[in-house]
Amino acid sequence: MNSVIPSYLMDEWWTPASGEGSPILDASTGEIVATANVSGIDIPGAIGYARTVGQAALGALTFHERALKLKELAQYLNGRREELYAISAKTGATSGDSMVDIDGGIGVLFTFSSKGRRELPNSNIVVDGPPEVLSKDGSFLGQHIYTRLPGVAVQINAFNFPVWGMLEKFAPAFLAGVPTIVKPATPTVYLAEAAVRMMAGSGILPEGSLQLISGSARDLIDHLDYRDLVGFTGSASTANALRSHPNVVHGGVRFTGETDSLNAAILGPDAVVGTPEFDAYIKSLVTEMTVKAGQKCTSIRRAIVPATIVDEVIRAAGARIRERIVVGDPRAEGVTMGALVSREQKDEVKARVRELVAAGGEIVLGSLDEPEVRRADGSTGTAPDGAFMQPVLLHFADALVAAAHTIEAFGPVSSVIGYDTVEEAVALAALGGGSLVATVATHDPDVARTVIEGIAAHHGRTLILDRDDARSSTGHGSPVPHLIHGGPGRAGGGEELGGIRSVFHHMQRTAVQGSPAMLTAVTGQWFAGAPRNLDGPHPFRNSLAELRIGDAVASPLREVTLDDITAFANSTGDTFYAHTNEEAAAANPFFPGIVAHGYLLVSWAAGLFVDPEPGPVLANYGLENLRFITPVSPGDSIRVTLTAKRITPRETDDYGEVCWDAIIHNQNDEIVATYDVLTLVAKEA
Ligand code: NDP
Repeated sequence: MNSVIPSYLMDEWWTPASGEGSPILDASTGEIVATANVSGIDIPGAIGYARTVGQAALGALTFHERALKLKELAQYLNGRREELYAISAKTGATSGDSMVDIDGGIGVLFTFSSKGRRELPNSNIVVDGPPEVLSKDGSFLGQHIYTRLPGVAVQINAFNFPVWGMLEKFAPAFLAGVPTIVKPATPTVYLAEAAVRMMAGSGILPEGSLQLISGSARDLIDHLDYRDLVGFTGSASTANALRSHPNVVHGGVRFTGETDSLNAAILGPDAVVGTPEFDAYIKSLVTEMTVKAGQKCTSIRRAIVPATIVDEVIRAAGARIRERIVVGDPRAEGVTMGALVSREQKDEVKARVRELVAAGGEIVLGSLDEPEVRRADGSTGTAPDGAFMQPVLLHFADALVAAAHTIEAFGPVSSVIGYDTVEEAVALAALGGGSLVATVATHDPDVARTVIEGIAAHHGRTLILDRDDARSSTGHGSPVPHLIHGGPGRAGGGEELGGIRSVFHHMQRTAVQGSPAMLTAVTGQWFAGAPRNLDGPHPFRNSLAELRIGDAVASPLREVTLDDITAFANSTGDTFYAHTNEEAAAANPFFPGIVAHGYLLVSWAAGLFVDPEPGPVLANYGLENLRFITPVSPGDSIRVTLTAKRITPRETDDYGEVCWDAIIHNQNDEIVATYDVLTLVAKEA
């Protein structure tokens, strides 16, 4: 008898004291792989552990420290991919499918690691945007900040991507500092468990930051409250049931869902047979129908094509399927499409296809008959113990049949639907009621603009496929960690991915109002109006260890003459009339006559604030937010004040980043220019 898949709770492996589990079968052979049973599991205990031990351990780290752990974890899993691939084959996944799941999941960890270190501060608070000045004298400001949620991120996942589906939610939660409890879908829980076993065994994760429930826990949300969030992936009906839980409706549990989606791919009217766009479209359609045996939330379900070339599309897709697709046990040589996850799922998909046919769809490629498959031993024939299906393409003569836009067959199934005008294609795509992704294959910018303007609000992601990006494109069905994965309406309204956005889903945005000094103290970032320290040594003499927010230098005034402006114009070649022609400059509504170049002022400011001797300041790597406010005429003078605004030590380097607030005034104390100077400063002198 196969043993029960353990759960990982409170940093220990757990199995029920008694009772057999329900069997989980190999998708290709029907042999029992494992059993699942979580009766008696201590869910309140797990949630309590996450909220206390997990929160404390993650809270002791900064964003950058957590980001580095994600990288270590990614490297650790990378070295163990083969082990996961072998297990993944039991789910019916080919090695190509497993690459999407396993390498894709590891890739998410790498991406969040690097984005976390580049886009977040090395602290625990994120300052969101510039301050709002709420009083005339600048003594009262408002600033939005993000702090992490104090609870637990619960994932309830679908069966199709047990590794990637887990890691795409884990990475942003971990980076935010929120512990995770994973509840994988039962049919593939053994693969998620293998990945968690590696992660837990790596010794990289802080205690309490990851727990696993290896079975059908139905009472999870009963124990959650407003501190917690649920990220759900699966069917719309389960999402709706969970979304209606009193703890979500009344208790404030944050709930996001990624659900059914009838994703469209529109073939532009210009993308006729023989164009690179037509070829790329057919390739994408067949890929999306067959990768993971079509069990992908992002698969193309509706091929919306010009009515005049429906036959050509079907013919070309058929030719490609015949040429490329070999259905069978993923462990057999040459198999390019594996099994569905289970026989129940196969029956489910076939039932949906029959509904589509009953509604007017005609099967134009493939059939519901048991396919001839390649078995693991290399023999061919039917394999009724496996969950195999042929790829099935339907055609709807009536483009407006509701079933074509509402019934999702979660397998290797797609429908071809004809359109007459681009506007009609847009309207058809929208009939999906909100989808994860849509492709438009076109090389015509007008078609691209019309379609994207029309469909964007119905989708989380869109892809414009043409000859220029067909080879480099990541593809219709591949969510990338940098961009939103989720979609409105029927797609569930969630945003699992989306770069640092998805980290902020695990954080609370709060407005903080107070004086500049108080906002500086709370955020660790200097705000204009807060005290400056002008008494210490020049701040360029301070190493990162010595430098403090607010350390500043203020220069004396320096006069700008017409000769200076002329010399700058001649040496740079910037002889724009505002700097060289008194009459033309005076005619300009913004200038009283000849004015100094903004770049002259910024260059002079550097000369005014610099401390030139070698020291801890290593490099100036840029300016940000530069604004020229008051023009400077010959005879005016300028002075600069430079203040340490934000200090970001780098975990892996001997230096860190210092952002300096720079402000240039004229002799009348009017603001001439404001900007941030970005430097690299050594940690030790
Ligand atoms: P389900 O909605 O049945 O299950 C999804 C997850 O929810 C599983 O982990 C399941 O656990 C869990 N679950 C089910 N009922 C409850 C409950 N009452 N309380 C708590 N958890 C519950 O979906 P399927 O597994 O059938 O997934 C297939 C469908 O999901 C597809 O038809 C597709 O439409 C959709 N999907 C959407 C994706 C997306 O990203 N948008 C991705 C993949 C699939 P258990 O397995 O233990 O029952």
